[in-house]
Amino acid sequence: MTPPSSTSPALAQAAPAAETSNAAYAERWRGAMNPALGAPELALVSGSGARVTDADGTTYTDFLSGVAVNALGHAHPAVIRAVTEQIGTVGHVSNLFISTRAVELAERLLTLVGADAAGGGKVFFANSGAEANEAAFKIARRTGRPKVISAEGSFHGRTMGALALTGQPGKRSGFEPLPGGVEYVPYGDVEALRAAVDGTTAAVLLEPIQGEYGVRPAPDGYLRAAREITREHGALLILDEVQTGIGRTGYWFAHQAPELTGGEPVVPDVMTLAKGIGGGLPLGACVALGEAAELLQPGQHASTFGGNPVCCAAGLAVLDTIEREGLLDHVTKTGKRITEAVRAMDHPLLGPVRGLGLLIGLVLTAPVAAEVAAAARRHGFLVNAVAADVIRLAPPLVVTEGDTEALLAALPAILDDASAGGPR
Ligand SMILES: *Cc1c(COP(=O)(O)O)cnc(C)c1O
Repeated sequence: MTPPSSTSPALAQAAPAAETSNAAYAERWRGAMNPALGAPELALVSGSGARVTDADGTTYTDFLSGVAVNALGHAHPAVIRAVTEQIGTVGHVSNLFISTRAVELAERLLTLVGADAAGGGKVFFANSGAEANEAAFKIARRTGRPKVISAEGSFHGRTMGALALTGQPGKRSGFEPLPGGVEYVPYGDVEALRAAVDGTTAAVLLEPIQGEYGVRPAPDGYLRAAREITREHGALLILDEVQTGIGRTGYWFAHQAPELTGGEPVVPDVMTLAKGIGGGLPLGACVALGEAAELLQPGQHASTFGGNPVCCAAGLAVLDTIEREGLLDHVTKTGKRITEAVRAMDHPLLGPVRGLGLLIGLVLTAPVAAEVAAAARRHGFLVNAVAADVIRLAPPLVVTEGDTEALLAALPAILDDASAGGPR
């Protein structure tokens, strides 16, 4: 908002006027925004790197990144430049014309996933994770087989198809009937998966790490077994890498991580991406490999905004920056440092630490994650209570050593503060 011209610069920089405070925005949010979205308390109004500032002028170090989205942090110069240049050149063309940025980004993704070795591949761009999974669901339907296997606890998005694929009854309830044919198996249980998959199975859909369900990595051998079982029955293996993809785990994609596969990459037939890929802009992708890439026929799917040049330019800037700044190694190193340091901490609230790279779940010994997140905020850190007893850390991939050490140094006091039951 522009202050009235009579306002002196000194006044304009003073404490925020009451009507632009966090509390005022929170009230306006409740007045104007759909209640489905809950009632957040902080209005984040500016940021730089891993720092973000709220409407009251408080600055936080951001260990959540808009839920694993701001891969390069806030206001990264490479994203600003790419987006500004693109919107000043051609901002939108629709699917009826070629988005040159979309072509470039698709080629880059196919290279990173090793499409050549997998018999080629094709990319469908969407605007979110849910939509990327909708595209994958439609590919699965095109096999002509009725059944799709998903995992209990999984999260694949909130649109009706993605919701049908989501293995959390609480999120589905109230919205049935949903698209049919989906069955859920316990995540990580090879025998249950083997028993569920047969010649009527179109696809098995799995997250390499169940992010929204409390950062639960696939147990040893599970992804590889899923690959073998699907291959045996001619079913597709779809990996939802919306949260784990684009460097989050220290690899371009989590299915390339030996920590999760036990060795060689577990190459899926279809992989979905979103969150980090757009560096903060809305972008999703459904990458199909081999025969799966040919299942959707011309005219069978589309998205007006999908492949939008501005979002794809941001995506290219994200990939370039990850490569140029060696961020995959940085993620691995920083993730190890956080994981090992927290494991070495002796605090009654700390249980196991799980995850990979910069997708980390701190399991608590009591269901006080909300209190811990609130205490972290009072100490100047944004973290996420992803489950009643799990804190999720997903900082920008560019998080500095200084920011990481600051969080580690503050963590014991944050946990003490949370156990003392400070104000929420
Ligand atoms: C966040 C997420 C989605 C949904 O993405 P939206 O962009 O919110 O639609 C799907 N799958 C996984 C694994 C996610 O983490």
